[in-house]
Amino acid sequence: MNRMSKKREAAVRSGAVRLTFGSTFGRPQPGAIEARKGVTRRRNERKLGASRGELAKAKAAAWREFSRWVRLRDSDDHGNLKCCTCSTVKYWKSMHAGHFVSRKYTATFLLPVNVHGQCPGCNRFKSGAPLEYDAYLTARYGAGTPEQIRQLARSTVKPTAEEYRAEAAEYRRLADEIIERTPSKVKGMTKIRPEGLTLEDVMRVAVERGIYIHIGVATKDIAANPPRVTVQLSTLKGERVEAYAFDLVRGNPRQNLSFSVLLMEKVNLFSPKRLIVL
Ligand SMILES: [Zn+2]
Repeated sequence: MNRMSKKREAAVRSGAVRLTFGSTFGRPQPGAIEARKGVTRRRNERKLGASRGELAKAKAAAWREFSRWVRLRDSDDHGNLKCCTCSTVKYWKSMHAGHFVSRKYTATFLLPVNVHGQCPGCNRFKSGAPLEYDAYLTARYGAGTPEQIRQLARSTVKPTAEEYRAEAAEYRRLADEIIERTPSKVKGMTKIRPEGLTLEDVMRVAVERGIYIHIGVATKDIAANPPRVTVQLSTLKGERVEAYAFDLVRGNPRQNLSFSVLLMEKVNLFSPKRLIVL
């Protein structure tokens, strides 16, 4: 859909510009209706004195924690998660938490029996694969479960931001409990802080673990597009050696960071046993 420019949108919102319908060949201007709705919605919110932004934020946070918990719940001890509606298996972080009854129904939005680990293909492109999902629920929870969830979805509930925040805290606690009980669900138990990770951090961790890192650039590789660097990881005595090539993206201001993060992953894979906490 076409949108108005930011400048015009701001002008419309402030009331400096009146929206005229039918000005372009008898049709509303692109974005005009949406902008009008936005103005009305914000005005209503101000009147009610309620912060819809706060509610939406709390709801999103509750979903984030709930989704994490669902995927940890449904994954095996190594964190592998089988899609509830097809045979795809992936690491839980690469999977979705998919609804049976659509997420637009508030009463069943955060209902554990209504949400399961599902592959992005089924969740996004097959609309949740409802027929297969129905069969899955019946097999897992017993006959009649899909119908019960559908019925429950029709009840009206209006959770407050405070209630969503409580749900978020509870599901975060439950998910952390699963990880504590089964640490192997989280690959290598690696805790990194990508926003602050530098090459120096990676090197320090490598040295602590007795890993040598050699970074090299071959003439042909630096002339290539994208240029590429070669990194070799080895044990002190060279019993084990692994080499990787990294493509550098020109003009990427976060190049250094993404290189550090990629390298840290390789260091973790090289010696996954020890816990890193930076
Ligand atoms: Zn699937």
